[in-house]
Amino acid sequence: MLSEVERATDAVARVARDPVSLVRAAGDPREAELVAVLASSLAFGNVTTILAKIREVLARAGGPLVSATRDPRALGRSLRGFKHRLYRGEHVAALLVGAARVQRQRGSLGAALASHLERAPLQEALARWVDELRAHGLDGLGDAGARHLLPDPRAGGSSKRLLLLLRWMARPPGPVDVGLWSGLIPASRLLIPLDTHLFKLSKNLGLTSRGAPSWRAAEEITRALTALDAADPTRFDFPLCHLGMVQGCPSRRDAARCHGCGVKPLCVHWRGAARAPPGSERS
Ligand code: SF4
Repeated sequence: MLSEVERATDAVARVARDPVSLVRAAGDPREAELVAVLASSLAFGNVTTILAKIREVLARAGGPLVSATRDPRALGRSLRGFKHRLYRGEHVAALLVGAARVQRQRGSLGAALASHLERAPLQEALARWVDELRAHGLDGLGDAGARHLLPDPRAGGSSKRLLLLLRWMARPPGPVDVGLWSGLIPASRLLIPLDTHLFKLSKNLGLTSRGAPSWRAAEEITRALTALDAADPTRFDFPLCHLGMVQGCPSRRDAARCHGCGVKPLCVHWRGAARAPPGSERS
């Protein structure tokens, strides 16, 4: 059933309105890593605003991020006045400068993460990678914006934006994901990037019994998806997210809004629908 949803998703058309499109456009692998860190970190809120804010940072940088991050003071000046939610220009500049320094020291951001994954499970490995990036700039700011921009997975939150970065970079290359780290990090170790919408959809499909999006909920949902594809469970993330958007999933039985939903036969709200008394569906 989920494979059918995946087949029905026009990934090429949909990817144009997704932040990963800017990562794909970066070309050079080192530039793509920095754009991916930027784009995933700002992926918070409405997608139109997210795309506009990522483009604003790229325009303000005045050239490739790989070059702009070599002069932290100039980058800080060019991002002065930038704001997205609780993030300011100084947060974004510190994030990018930190990421670029780790990239230069370790060869690539993917190599740095892969080295942590050799010694630790995903949650701790990702936390160590975050520590490394933060130590080069964000830690010095020490405020809520700095902590939120690059969150600590040890706190137990879903770490959606970090796991989205991993999906983009470590899943095999295709029409959506870039796959630059696919030779370094096995896709089987990834977890689903879980936001409130995907969490609700996962509840509707009976993939989790948890009460809120969290790291544990992402593990539970990924385990359920592993039964469908053990080597690449997060391949279902993009189609499910877009199905949720297109369908405007109401998370309840609603004849009009659920019409044509590709996962309706699996949805807990439609169990026993054939036996439901006439007029019991909301429309
Ligand atoms: S059938 Fe309706 S409630 Fe269930 S997942 Fe689809 S849109 Fe959401």
